[in-house]
Amino acid sequence: MPTPDQTAAPGTPPVRVVVIEDEPTITRAIADRLTAEGWEVSTALDGPSGVRMVSEVRPDVVVLDVMLPGFDGLEVCRRIQADEPVPVLMLTARDDETDMLVGLGVGADDYMTKPFSMRELVARLKALLRRVRRTGPAAPTEAEKQEALQFGDLLIDRAGRRVMRAGVPAHLTPTEFDLLLCLAGAPGTVLTREQLLADVWDWVDATGTRTVDSHVKALRRKLGADLVRTVHGVGYALEIPEEPEEGEASPRSAPSDISSMPTPNLPTQDS
Ligand code: CA
Repeated sequence: MPTPDQTAAPGTPPVRVVVIEDEPTITRAIADRLTAEGWEVSTALDGPSGVRMVSEVRPDVVVLDVMLPGFDGLEVCRRIQADEPVPVLMLTARDDETDMLVGLGVGADDYMTKPFSMRELVARLKALLRRVRRTGPAAPTEAEKQEALQFGDLLIDRAGRRVMRAGVPAHLTPTEFDLLLCLAGAPGTVLTREQLLADVWDWVDATGTRTVDSHVKALRRKLGADLVRTVHGVGYALEIPEEPEEGEASPRSAPSDISSMPTPNLPTQDS
C-alpha cells in the first residue's frame, strides 16, 4: 500500500494530474496509484478529450501516452503547451519511439518507456513537481529574479520566466527555461548531461541523458542553433551570442521592455 505524500505541507491543495491514455487498464492503474498518493486524478482516453480536460482542470502535471485515438500525444502536447506551459511526462511504447520524439524536440519534460513500474512513475512525477515548485538555496533571491540576464542579443527575464532573442520573444516550456537558466549560469562552460540532469531534472537514470538532448534540440529550434554548443562525449555549453548591431532595437533597456513583452504562443503547427 503506497503511503501518502509526506512532503506535502498540511493545508496545501492536492496535486492535480490529468492522465491521457487510451488503454483502460493502464489508465485505471495509474489513476488508482496516484489517487492513493492523495492526488486529484482526471483521466481522458483520447487526444481531443485530453486537451479539453487539461484546459478545464488546469493540472499541475500531465501524464500523456503517445499513441492515442483522435490525435496523438505529440499534437496533444503542442496544444496544451500553447495554451499554458504545464509539465508533461510522456509514455512511449518503445525506446525507438522515445528517440523519434527526442528528434522532434516535442515539449515533454520527461519520457518513460512502457512497461514501467508505478513506483518509478510516481518518483518521476514527484521529481518533476519538485523542479517546477523548487525553492531552495540554489533558487535566485527575489532581487536576483528581478534582474534580467543578458548575453549579447539573448535576454532572460527570470522573474517573468520569459526569453527574447534579438528582440523576438520565444515560447519555452518550464523545463526548457530551467535548462537555459542552468546553462546561462556558466556561459561558455561545458556542463555534462549528468550535471544538467541533476540540476534541472533532479533525477538521474540511464535514459535521462536523452531527455537532456531533446530539450537542447528544442532550445536550438526556438532560440537559434548557434546558442548551445555540443561538446561531443561531454555535454553542452551556452555560447554567448553576438551583441545587437548599433541602431537596432536593443533589448538593453530592460526591464521596462520586458514588462510589455507579450506572452508568446507556440507557432501553429496544425495542418
Ligand atoms: Ca496508447
